[in-house]
Amino acid sequence: MYHQVGKFKRPDSHRATFCHVRRFNAQMAYLRSFGYRVLSLSAALEGLFGGGYLPRHTVVLTFDDGYQNFRDYAFPALVRYRFPATVFLVAGLLGKNARWLEDDDRFGAPLMDRATIRELRTYGVAFGSHSLTHPLLTQIDRSRQEKEIRDSKSLLEDVLGEEVKYFCYPSGDYDDGLVGIVKEAGYAAALTCDRGSATRSDDPLILPRKAVSFGDSLIGFFWKLHMKHQKKLQEKITG
Ligand SMILES: [Zn+2]
Repeated sequence: MYHQVGKFKRPDSHRATFCHVRRFNAQMAYLRSFGYRVLSLSAALEGLFGGGYLPRHTVVLTFDDGYQNFRDYAFPALVRYRFPATVFLVAGLLGKNARWLEDDDRFGAPLMDRATIRELRTYGVAFGSHSLTHPLLTQIDRSRQEKEIRDSKSLLEDVLGEEVKYFCYPSGDYDDGLVGIVKEAGYAAALTCDRGSATRSDDPLILPRKAVSFGDSLIGFFWKLHMKHQKKLQEKITG
């Protein structure tokens, strides 16, 4: 799980939502050099839940929020290595600033506009919904929850001209009611910020991920891929 990729000074907080482009390039080179299978989200889901085969060391690259810096800094590396990726868009804020960040002292970074999104789609970048306005979904009433989840899907389907199958809970905030709405809205899978590797025993509508953080060197990256958060249950027990 990535958020912003670009040229940043060390952030004071929210380090798991920033990745310096230098490190990002090194991480992609690492995945290529050591033979990881970087699959699209849909191919990995087919391998996990569709009775398909999933090779060892499979990685899926996801980018939350749909920042313009995905286009400027992450996408060139993805093209270089021909790695597929899925970007989760805040459907009601395309071409605007990440307004929700300004509330918690983070920079209101620009989000990709429709033309950029359509251009990236022609290069194979996949897109999912990350709601309309990036609220904490458990904190709003049911009718707004439905609007955020359903209307973002139809709005993005209009932009992209294809079905939008995947949802990503803003700030990883979800509960049973929200999972039900996501299912009813017709999404095939949804991603959380729960830390861990996705396995066949996971609910496809509550999939865990691993956050690559600003401070992760290649050793840290390796550690996260292979060691950290491997056992979700154990993590819950130990806090
Ligand atoms: Zn987000």
